Amino acid sequence: DQTLLKVENLETRFISGETIIRAVNDVSFTVKKGKTIGLVGESGSGKSVTVHSITQLLPPLGKITGGRITYIKDGKEIVLNKIQKNGKTMRSIRGKEIGMIFQDPNTSLNPVYTIGNQVMENIIHHEKVTKKQAAEKALHILNSLGIPNVRSRIHEYPHQFSGGMKQRVGIAMSMVGNPKILIADEPTTALDVTIQLQILELMKNIQGEYGTSIIFITHNLGIVAHMADEIGVMYMGRIVEYGFTRQVLTSPKHPYTEALLQSVPYVGMNKQARLKTIKGNTPDPAALPEGCTFAPRCEYATEACNVYPDEFHLGGGHKVSCWLHKEREEQLG
Ligand code: SF4
Ligand code: MG
Repeated sequence: DQTLLKVENLETRFISGETIIRAVNDVSFTVKKGKTIGLVGESGSGKSVTVHSITQLLPPLGKITGGRITYIKDGKEIVLNKIQKNGKTMRSIRGKEIGMIFQDPNTSLNPVYTIGNQVMENIIHHEKVTKKQAAEKALHILNSLGIPNVRSRIHEYPHQFSGGMKQRVGIAMSMVGNPKILIADEPTTALDVTIQLQILELMKNIQGEYGTSIIFITHNLGIVAHMADEIGVMYMGRIVEYGFTRQVLTSPKHPYTEALLQSVPYVGMNKQARLKTIKGNTPDPAALPEGCTFAPRCEYATEACNVYPDEFHLGGGHKVSCWLHKEREEQLG
């Protein structure tokens, strides 16, 4: 079995006095070796909270209130939400087993140290190496990530690097521990389109070379189409549709996925297709509707939708939480 990480029925809440935000609700997926899973949805859909739950880096008010997150290390299962969030095991998992690439590379860079020093420090933190070996490895990694003139540029400071170059360093920092899983949370959103593509290609190359698994978070369907093997579409804290990229993008089954596809331009889309906007607004996360959370915006909503839909399996791993597909599943038997 090639499963590295299992997220089962994850529930994460933000609790502040009387206010409870169900940021992640009954979310399940698995991460397989060498594969990319894309979590896609608008901001506030729970994508980032899901991955922060995995790495136990939730903000202070956030709390995992249900479910299980299991990391499989050398055949041994470690239930991440049952171990101390800043204990030795969790610290050894962050960075070494699961690496993070952030939207803003400044998050992982310190402005007062040179690029070379930071990458070296990170190497020394992860491995027993001499300073000289760490320096050689830092040069090697930065070079393989396409930083030009590495030997002189390692003496520069982050502010002397462009956004795209800083993101390469951010990726270098995340790759130092040779993590088995990379979590990339909107890693190219801040970059312009050509640089975006370069960074995405770079991530694919890394995956090809090291067999890294990737959890890729984005609101951009074009990017997810380019990167992901499987997609989970998130809406108001839930995965409403899940399947292989081709299934979800060419044959969307949830009205939200359908609306999202019609509202966002993406590579390969029909040139005649007109972009629509999804009507209505997302509901108040602190006062979610009782039934299907998409009902207030859904043109197919009926009485049945006052109850949250079951998850229907449509064959070939394609799953959808929408009452419209109840009969379809019954036909499949
Ligand atoms: Fe629309 Fe009902 Fe399906 Fe929800 S369950 S997406 S409201 S049809
Ligand atoms: Mg986010």
